[in-house]
Formats: sequence, structure tokens, C-alpha cells
Amino acid sequence: MKPRILLIYTGGTIGMIKDPETQALKSFNFDELLLHIPEIKLLDCEISTTSFKQPIDSSDMNIHHWRHIGDVIHDAYDDYEGFVVLHGSDTMSYTGSALSFMFENLTKPIIFTGSQLPIGDLRTDAKENLITSLQLAIQQERGKPVIQEVCIYFEYQLYRANRTVKANAEHFEAFKSPNYPPLAISGVMLNIDKSLLWQGDYDYLAFAKADKPKTPKQKERMFYRPEFVDKVVVLKIFPGITQAVVSAICNIEGIKGIILESYGSGNAPTEDWFLNTIVSAIKKGIKVVNVTQCHGGSVMMGKYETSVQLLSMGVISGKDITTEAALAKMMYLLNYATDKETFSSYFTKSLRGELTE
Ligand code: ASP
Repeated sequence: MKPRILLIYTGGTIGMIKDPETQALKSFNFDELLLHIPEIKLLDCEISTTSFKQPIDSSDMNIHHWRHIGDVIHDAYDDYEGFVVLHGSDTMSYTGSALSFMFENLTKPIIFTGSQLPIGDLRTDAKENLITSLQLAIQQERGKPVIQEVCIYFEYQLYRANRTVKANAEHFEAFKSPNYPPLAISGVMLNIDKSLLWQGDYDYLAFAKADKPKTPKQKERMFYRPEFVDKVVVLKIFPGITQAVVSAICNIEGIKGIILESYGSGNAPTEDWFLNTIVSAIKKGIKVVNVTQCHGGSVMMGKYETSVQLLSMGVISGKDITTEAALAKMMYLLNYATDKETFSSYFTKSLRGELTE
């Protein structure tokens, strides 16, 4: 039997056309999108398609859209061997990260792709991106999908989604995976590096102990957790940041988590007002995670004097996680791990290969 793939269109440049009046790009009909790539009929798979009723620019994505994409995949999970999601590149790393946390014990590929130029453009990158994503999604070995994780395919490279950042607004090579190598490179051959693929041990989170499988069959079961908490904020440190700004952010009504984008290997100002504001946020139960604003590398709290205090105050290390994945992970974990110790122990652990332990 040919592998069955569900192609999900959410919006983004790939399916946009120019508004003749304003010249701005806007979404158009999904059926028209497929008309532009008749080649996909030649692939050795059966493709079904579904689309957001109102396709969106990915700048409009929120946790409800994430859930909608997750629900579509979850409802169709047993009927397909893989999923390809067409999505705007602007927030693809966030959605890809969110989906990776949503699906625990995933046994099928979910591959996000999009393009920098619309499918109707003569020089479009959409065709290669879509065709190769489909080809990657149908790779099977001994009757099982080779890729069993959430990925982004863009410009000849397949990445683990929760390791990516959008790094260029113009180049076809829009994404980078600063702290993890590409899982596959597409050239004359599709070269998948199997040693890099996620083979996470089956490990239901302790906060869901009741779900622990009892039989080997249940062990193969995928577990779906689509809830996200959006009461979070990213606080990027910059030279000259004022007490008023930090204090306003830490005192936002109902805020539950702060991603602190610090310098270098996790360094932040050492002035009393800064440390006192952060410590009082932590005392109120707000989870504070330290990630680096560098484009690669890891937080190592305690390496410099400027991060020693953060460590002793209970700021959690994000290690080498990206801001995008940290945000999605925080929004996910806040549902299940409310006390500081549990939250911290799960945050610092690699749940889906999103950080190096
Ligand atoms: N603004 C577009 C979006 O993210 C850009 C793209 O599709 O690449 O939806």
C-alpha cells in the first residue's frame, strides 16, 4: 500500500498572490495552490489535503491556531503515515516547537514547510520545498516511518523544528539550527543522518504518571497534550534597560513565566534593583528561564560573576534552547508543572531533543 500523507495548508507566502490594487501579498485558495504543482501527483504516495478556512499570515498565529493544527493531525493520526504542514516562515519555528511538545511519543513525521516566494512566482522556492517535504514524509523502513518527529524542511535542509530560528527574511535559506546539525540534506540524493534523528526513550512525564502504559502495545501509543498557557513574556536585556521596564514586565497581571534573554552565556546586569525585581517575581511563583540572545551556544550560569546571583535566586537555565522553543516549552509545561522544582526539572531536561542536557 502506498503511504498516505495529509497536507495541511495554514497560509503563508507559499499560497499568496499580489493584490492588484495594493501590491501587498495576501492568501489565496488552496486548490489553486495545488494546480501550480501538478508534479506532486507523480510521487509514490496518496495525498489528501485540508486547509484552514481562512488561511493566515503566520504573524497572526496564536495558541488556538497551534491547537487547531494539532487537532487536525491528532484526529487523522491513524489514517496517515505522515503529515506536511504548509505554514508561513515568520513563526514556523514557534509552531513547529509547539507541535513537538504537543505530541509525546510521536511515531510519524510532521514536516513544516513554506517558501520565501509565492508558488505562482517564476523563481519560487515553493516547489522544491513542498515536493522534498513530501518525499521525506514518505520515507519508510521496515514498514515504519524513518522520521518520527516534528521537522522544518527549507532550502535543501531538514531540521528538528524545535532547534530552528528564522534567520533571514530574504534568502531562500531562511532557517538556521544553531545548536543542532541538519537531520537531512537534499542533493542528488536525500541524505538522512539517522544518528541525529529523535529516538527519545519512551518516557511519559511524571506529572502524567496515571497515563503510564501497562502493555507493550500501549507503549507505542502517541499521547496528545494540546493545552498551552499564554501568560508568558520574553524580556530581552539590553544596555540601559531601566527599572521601570523590568518592573512593569515582572508585575504584569496574571503573568506566569518570563523568558529572560540574557547576554552571552547567561549574563545580566548585577545592579540591586534588577536582581531584586527578578527575585521578587520568582518569590511570587513566576517561572524565570534564562536563554541566551546569542545566535548559538549555551547558557552556563555561574561561569561569570554576572550570572552567579541569577543561579542562586532560582533562575532556571535554558541551556542551549532557542527563545522560540523555550517559549513553547514554557507555555506547555506551565499546564502540568506548577511548582518550581517540577517545572525546573522538566525544563532543564530534553523532552523532544530541544536542548542539549
Ligand atoms: N509573512 C509570511 C508568513 O509568515 C512570510 C512567509 O510565509 O514566509 O506568513
